[in-house]
Amino acid sequence: MQEIAKQLQSLLGPQGCLDDPNDIAAYTSDLLALKTAAPVCVVRPATTVQAASIVQYARKSKLAIIPQGGHTGLSGGAVALNDSDRDNDKDKDKDSVILSLDRMTAIREIDTNDNVMIVEAGAVLANVQTAAREAGRIFPLSHGGEASSQIGGNLSTNSGGNNALRYGTARDQVLGIEVVLPSGEIWNGLRRLRKNTAGYDLKQLFMGAEGTLGIITAAALKLRPAPSYRETAFVALAHPQAGLEFLRLLQSHVGEAVTAFELLSDNAISAALTLARVRFPLQTRYPWCALIEADTPSSHFDISGAIEEALSGALEDGMLLDAVIAQSETQRDEFWHLRESIAFAMIEDKSALKSDTAVPVAKVAAFISHAEAVILQIVPGARCVPFGHLGDGNIHFNVQRPEDMSADTFKNHWPDLIDAIVKVSLSLDGTISAEHGIGRTKQRIFSKTSAEVELKLMRALKAAIDPDELMNPGALF
Ligand SMILES: Cc1cc2nc3c(=O)[nH]c(=O)nc-3n(C[C@H](O)[C@H](O)[C@H](O)COP(=O)(O)OP(=O)(O)OC[C@H]3O[C@@H](n4cnc5c(N)ncnc54)[C@H](O)[C@@H]3O)c2cc1C
Repeated sequence: MQEIAKQLQSLLGPQGCLDDPNDIAAYTSDLLALKTAAPVCVVRPATTVQAASIVQYARKSKLAIIPQGGHTGLSGGAVALNDSDRDNDKDKDKDSVILSLDRMTAIREIDTNDNVMIVEAGAVLANVQTAAREAGRIFPLSHGGEASSQIGGNLSTNSGGNNALRYGTARDQVLGIEVVLPSGEIWNGLRRLRKNTAGYDLKQLFMGAEGTLGIITAAALKLRPAPSYRETAFVALAHPQAGLEFLRLLQSHVGEAVTAFELLSDNAISAALTLARVRFPLQTRYPWCALIEADTPSSHFDISGAIEEALSGALEDGMLLDAVIAQSETQRDEFWHLRESIAFAMIEDKSALKSDTAVPVAKVAAFISHAEAVILQIVPGARCVPFGHLGDGNIHFNVQRPEDMSADTFKNHWPDLIDAIVKVSLSLDGTISAEHGIGRTKQRIFSKTSAEVELKLMRALKAAIDPDELMNPGALF
């Protein structure tokens, strides 16, 4: 093993290959506290050519490669796991190297005529957003992991986040990509075309592939007009269905201007308030709230009147129970801080069950009520903590243990609880994973619940592109 690290160090320089346990600890820990297995070493290419040379070396040495971005993923996709925490009985995580993109962070170019930016895969999402803003545009992908997650990781998980309602998920933000293939070849697909029907859309294969088909090393990202006029509101609802009704009412007033519609259960708000030093924005607590945002690129399209009309109409007929509009950027930040603190509180509570299902938007209310009923049958007294992206049907139905139950006892219920949530989602034409991916923690359910014909197609693609199972074995399949 030391010999491998030595050879990789001579290929990449001392910063390019780490094998000291102290140096690699940060790359092998896991946000969800999964038990990770140590890689042979951590390699950190500084260029696409170096990434390709690592793949060529790994091929010869029969080493597996685990691509790693900002390491904020919530499905154990970017680390090797110990047998006890792997949802897969194949012994596949041995002799792997973690390939971190953390030295490939350049923003190579911003072109405001083409409305495109070319960035390396290791660029942190928040830095990409800032660079776009400084150029008078926005890169709208945004979520709680943005301070550390990288563009490569976001594309590889096809992340969704808060603005997918208007702009779509990560894969919708991409014009082209550059990939190092498992063969060691570099595919330069960094096109800037808005239209291209010349053959298969190959770039889409690598998005959401969770590093199983190659290493994304750079991307050409779409830029959008920057908003100059924005309204943010925090509203109270009697039930989730009222949220959907209000979303549709709002869209009938301001159309595509609505960028975010985040549904928050009161349990989710309580969890956030244990972490966040922030004031709850309304006078009293309600069973459900929503954080809503809409914007336009110019003050010529002042939407405040239309939003106020929608809010007052909804308050009058009881669709909304209360509402407040942010009066300053500080107040807007407080609303969002409260929202994002829910995800952090859930990560902090290591015994909380996390889920990432989505159903068609019209079925969100049914999903929440059915899921709650089955969860309470399995663990009476459990705290259901649903929250998430109502406009995309993607509700994270998380569950915290009853106060008088130990973490270990509650964790023993996890398989039954997750099976129950997934069953409800699938019975409503939903999915087991909307934005976090399968990684190493959801394979059992993925293979159990996917149609055989879909699995066959996915395996055929994997075998065609990565016949030696070099790339991230143990993830997805
Ligand atoms: C507080 C919090 C809130 C979050 N909220 C959201 C949310 O609202 N929406 C959402 O979608 N996600 C959310 N996430 C999850 C996470 O931030 C996303 O999944 C993100 O896209 C992962 O990016 P990363 O760079 O950290 O990838 P990693 O965790 O490092 O990797 C994720 C997967 O991508 C692969 N990968 C990484 N980089 C590459 C590459 N260059 N080439 C090929 N494969 C690669 C890895 O092998 C792994 O399978 C949240 C996370 C946190 C901590």
